[in-house]
Amino acid sequence: MTTWNDTPICFVTRASCPACGCCQYIAIRSMPRESDGSKTLRVVCRRCSGRFLIVSEPPEENFARLPEFGNSRCGTDIL
Ligand SMILES: [Zn+2]
Repeated sequence: MTTWNDTPICFVTRASCPACGCCQYIAIRSMPRESDGSKTLRVVCRRCSGRFLIVSEPPEENFARLPEFGNSRCGTDIL
């Protein structure tokens, strides 16, 4: 059994406001899951109060390989 100390890490880039580049926002509402498996979140930027949507997409269908231990990053496919 793994512990949190040796658990693989999946790195994700935080979404940023398309208007000002700020990556701090307030989540207003999470929308129901889309038919393609994606999730959409409505947010308001803390800096400029601009509204934008954050869409979280499911992994590629052909990306069945699990992240490996060490410095491998989930979502990058370096061969
Ligand atoms: Zn902004």
